[in-house]
Amino acid sequence: MPSIFSKIISREIPAHIVYEDENTIAFLDINPVNPGHTLVVPKEEAPNILESSPEVVRHLLDVVQKIAPVIVRATESDGCTITANIGEASGQSVFHTHIHIIPRKYGDGHIGWSQLNPSSNELSQTAQKIKEMI
Ligand code: AMP
Repeated sequence: MPSIFSKIISREIPAHIVYEDENTIAFLDINPVNPGHTLVVPKEEAPNILESSPEVVRHLLDVVQKIAPVIVRATESDGCTITANIGEASGQSVFHTHIHIIPRKYGDGHIGWSQLNPSSNELSQTAQKIKEMI
């Protein structure tokens, strides 16, 4: 069954499209965190960015790099958050690869995650485990 984003790509359902090329589409998030919140989506369906092909991801990031500064300027923002949720645990709700570009302003209230304060030993153990598995 096509994802909701594939239905936007095929124009079965409407969206506020801001950019489109042969492989990629970008449209406004229907429930934006801030005005101008945009989703950048490959036309080729895959559940998330880790499962899209490297070529698709490269082009997706090219588009993000191209349009994010424009979105920041167009919304008179001070910066942006670029993010991708992978898996339900991270809050992913649409299982079709996409990157969020969220314009940010000073004082917009979207303060970051709470952070841990691990010991150097804990950081070393975690780094070692990751290095061994890469
Ligand atoms: P995520 O939770 O990272 O999977 O992000 C999915 C995003 O898609 C959410 O921020 C939704 O608000 C957005 N979304 C879902 N349906 C639509 C739609 N029809 N048009 C635009 N954005 C949508």
